[in-house]
Amino acid sequence: MGYKKLSMGEKKKIAVVAHDNKKIDLLEWAEYNKDLLAQHELFATGTTGSLLEQKLGIEVNKLQSGPLGGDQQIGAKIAEGEIDFIIFFWDPLEPQPHDPDVKALLRIAVVWNIPVACNRASADFMISSPLMSGEYERFVPDYRDYRDRMKKGTSA
Ligand code: PGA
Repeated sequence: MGYKKLSMGEKKKIAVVAHDNKKIDLLEWAEYNKDLLAQHELFATGTTGSLLEQKLGIEVNKLQSGPLGGDQQIGAKIAEGEIDFIIFFWDPLEPQPHDPDVKALLRIAVVWNIPVACNRASADFMISSPLMSGEYERFVPDYRDYRDRMKKGTSA
């Protein structure tokens, strides 16, 4: 399979999601990194987004709450090229009512080669990367062959 490149601009479109037991962790992280985050465009699931706006005083594009479809909305935005990377503090110790959506979001991020930080240390490394402040060419698998095969009705 070949690859094509998609550009991320200097201003990144960042999706942020935190499960309930991880919200404090996320808010602390976001406050510490407020100045950096303010340089980018933020998207978030409903509750996470409201908390971020209160804490940081910066505008967040709020989607539905996660269990009501917010994770799926972020997944759809990834497929449409509208999200550059994800900060996703998911809870490894408690089942979620929307576990399938969580898995789907993590999966679609891999399909489209989107960077994902699932804990604070990864988020620290990601946000402090020199790549954050410039343009970046993201390699995305060229799914044309896959689409053609599906059209012909064969997955072999
Ligand atoms: P929330 O959703 O930000 O609306 O709480 C997060 C999630 O559980 O996916």
